[in-house]
Amino acid sequence: MPAPPTDLRTGTHDPLRLPHESWRRLYGLACVRCGGGQGLRPGGHAYTQHPDGGRLGWAVQICTKCEHRVKATDNKVS
Ligand SMILES: [Zn+2]
Repeated sequence: MPAPPTDLRTGTHDPLRLPHESWRRLYGLACVRCGGGQGLRPGGHAYTQHPDGGRLGWAVQICTKCEHRVKATDNKVS
């Protein structure tokens, strides 16, 4: 059983395989990275893959704690 994604902004997700908890993140009800709900703010977009070949973008939220952690540890340009 694959581990749930830690940051939904990584890659493109199959909506049929996303656990319920991940949908809360896509809908902006929980932090896209940790699933927490404290100090949420806009955190970019996550994407789901659809059978017609298109991608659907979701405006997700990220918590203050994760935002600081990303800035401190993630220097990759995406
Ligand atoms: Zn978080």
